[in-house]
Amino acid sequence: MEIKAAVVYEQSGKFKIEQLQLSDPNDDEVLVRIAGAGICHTDLAARDQHLPIPLPSVFGHEGAGVVEKVGARVTKVQPGDHVALSWNSCGACTSCKAGKDPYCLNFLALNFSGARPDGTTTLRKGDQVIHGSFFCQSSFADFALANERNVVKVSKDVPLEILGPMGCGIQTGAGAVMNTLQASPGSSIAIFGVGTVGISAVLGAVVCGCTTIIAVDVHADRLKMAEELGATHTVNAGKEDPVKAVQDITGGGPNFSLECVGNPAVFRQAVDVLPLLGVCGLLGVVAPLTEVSLNMDLIMNGRTVRGIIEGDAIPDLFIPKLIELYTQGRFPFDRLIEFYPFDEINKAVEDMEKGRVIKPILRP
Ligand SMILES: [Zn+2]
Ligand SMILES: [Zn+2]
Repeated sequence: MEIKAAVVYEQSGKFKIEQLQLSDPNDDEVLVRIAGAGICHTDLAARDQHLPIPLPSVFGHEGAGVVEKVGARVTKVQPGDHVALSWNSCGACTSCKAGKDPYCLNFLALNFSGARPDGTTTLRKGDQVIHGSFFCQSSFADFALANERNVVKVSKDVPLEILGPMGCGIQTGAGAVMNTLQASPGSSIAIFGVGTVGISAVLGAVVCGCTTIIAVDVHADRLKMAEELGATHTVNAGKEDPVKAVQDITGGGPNFSLECVGNPAVFRQAVDVLPLLGVCGLLGVVAPLTEVSLNMDLIMNGRTVRGIIEGDAIPDLFIPKLIELYTQGRFPFDRLIEFYPFDEINKAVEDMEKGRVIKPILRP
């Protein structure tokens, strides 16, 4: 079928809106008419080839929409259902069998190869192959092809166009606190970097009943937003030493810290700030082979450093929970969102890169 999609032709190039041809769904695939697609830093990392995905390619991995058509073997959803799209996992490897889908051994092939796992591609422009299947969706388009495994059926009572980021940034931040750290009521947490992931962690910390929630960032407007959404303290790391400031606030260090920036110096701060038995979760995405130096003696004394993918969430279980919290007014993630017409994707990206918007969502 003919679709409209945003194509990146060269490393760090602009997104170009093109008319493309999209394949029919295979037996286990689901065709989705996109209602909204969030832009995430991982899309830009792919554009800049920090993730080596073949170009030209269509990115976009925070899509939500209406099921248009399903493959012969699909039973989970049917045409007309509302779905949020997430990342794909194989369901068959040792990680998936253990219920640790975010650590699927086939994660790269299923989400970052630019094609289906069998190597076939889904997008063309005439005779030219355009790579897709990004996070098994490529949702910077008016239609996207997902797999039965990475569509999550959602309530029709919630505005569909805001739900895409649930599948990545939102569940990453909230899930780190709610699923991985399982922060207990009354505990303290310091969140380094309050973009989409960090603010979602703030929201998750509120849900968990953390009584000290410290947002650390260098952008005053983000700190203000974090405060409005439940941070009890803010630290401007551009103006004061964040390690000392957080230790002063907590009287020796928080139970938990999260690194949501993807910066070795910030990661070091998030570890250095911990007291005995404190846990630091690492969420920030960095280029492959990035190294960091840490104080071994400090970690020896009962501290934990834990890398976290996609908030340790099983999207089918976790996204409906977050939506329920949202409808109850206890998870107001929509405050992060600003809408852009699909044709203004380059402006949306620029606004995000300049820090003028936290979570842009494109509407076809
Ligand atoms: Zn797997
Ligand atoms: Zn993402």
